[in-house]
Amino acid sequence: RTGQTDPSTPTNEQEFDRSRAVIPGGVNSPVRAYGSVGGTPRFLASASGPYVTDVAGRTYVDLVCSWGPALLGHAHPEVVAAVQEAAARGLSFGAPTHGETELAETVVARLDVSGRRALERLRLVSTGTEATMTAIRLARGATDRPLVVKFAGHYHGHSDGLLAEAGSGVATQGLPGSAGIPAEIAAQTLVLPYNDLDALDVAFAAHPGRIAAVITEGAGANAGVLLPQTGFNAALAARTRAAGALLILDEVLTGFRVDPAGWWGLEQRDGADWTPDLVTFGKVVGGGMPLAAVGGRRDVLELLAPLGPVYQAGTLSGNPLAVAAGLATLRLADADVYARVDAAAGAIADGLEDVFVALGHAVTVSRAGSLFSLAFRDGEVRDYDDARDQEGWRYRAFFASMLEQGISLPPSVYEAWFLSAAHDDAVVDRVLQALPAAARAAVEA
Ligand code: PMP
Repeated sequence: RTGQTDPSTPTNEQEFDRSRAVIPGGVNSPVRAYGSVGGTPRFLASASGPYVTDVAGRTYVDLVCSWGPALLGHAHPEVVAAVQEAAARGLSFGAPTHGETELAETVVARLDVSGRRALERLRLVSTGTEATMTAIRLARGATDRPLVVKFAGHYHGHSDGLLAEAGSGVATQGLPGSAGIPAEIAAQTLVLPYNDLDALDVAFAAHPGRIAAVITEGAGANAGVLLPQTGFNAALAARTRAAGALLILDEVLTGFRVDPAGWWGLEQRDGADWTPDLVTFGKVVGGGMPLAAVGGRRDVLELLAPLGPVYQAGTLSGNPLAVAAGLATLRLADADVYARVDAAAGAIADGLEDVFVALGHAVTVSRAGSLFSLAFRDGEVRDYDDARDQEGWRYRAFFASMLEQGISLPPSVYEAWFLSAAHDDAVVDRVLQALPAAARAAVEA
């Protein structure tokens, strides 16, 4: 089936023209636009396992995986069945349900590694943005301090205080932040270079008793992959504690994706010994449905209404369909799933490196567990400045060649590539076979 031969089949171009006439930019989240890579976004009709299929009937190997949630691959039959069963029982109640408790118990139990527990309480929300926004409010409520430290190139959703020098779509569009945020609000956020403890010490010294929290991604994965240097997260935990501030570990992207217990779990298994005060989750925890969570210390979480003075609420929080998808996904995401995702990621990341070596063109492939990204730059990518110091325009030709060969990559050089347990050897081989032509196109661009 191709769009060219059947006149009743819409093309992506027709869909895009129609959507742009009613939806700003034709997309409901800017990262979906092909702004930096050019061309027409593929309008997807369906997805299954490692594949997505567009309205024109073309199927692609998908290395976006819904920007993270699809750890098991798309439309896993057991997850779909769980959602269907939940739907038949009612779409939304606005009252507590058994499933919410079960999901919270599951998440809390997972973040128990080598005798260390990162969570005592957990509240379910609907998006990662809500989770980090609530974490910040909690930290301010707990400390009675105004300021928040974030790292340049990290993305924590689109709440007012967290868009300064943000990664993801903000980085792709080359924006310093967002319009529409009063200077008074922006001034409450201190943006520091990632992996720079000296800068953190300077900030704490310059604002004694004023910093409520440091928020950091488990591993940076929104300006390409920014690996935390060994001991960096542990040092953040120690320094925030010493300063009377809270450490918010944003695992919306890394949580349940790089390890059964997220980036934190991966570090603990490697012998680290630190705990965050608050942790945020999203993406995989909702199994592809709108669900996210904020958890952490009991004394802090119990500041939330109805127990305490920090207000947070949601009509659709803990939605039964989303809870069913999250529970089914976490139940299926066993050690074998993580081993398969790791193996597929390793094979593609290595292949990516090899193909540019063969061409004699220096690039950097950064890896944080099963997350990896490509930078057109000779040398390590430690922070946002490094990430921006690359020949990113070469990605346009690379992306176009891969798409032409039936491989759908994230449409920005500032995004990580996402794999799933459904990306088996045959699928990985298809990706590897497409890499040489794409790399040549990038080098010749
Ligand atoms: N934090 C991180 C680390 C993220 O990667 C994202 C989304 N990519 C968010 C927060 C925001 O999540 P959401 O898009 O669900 O609001």
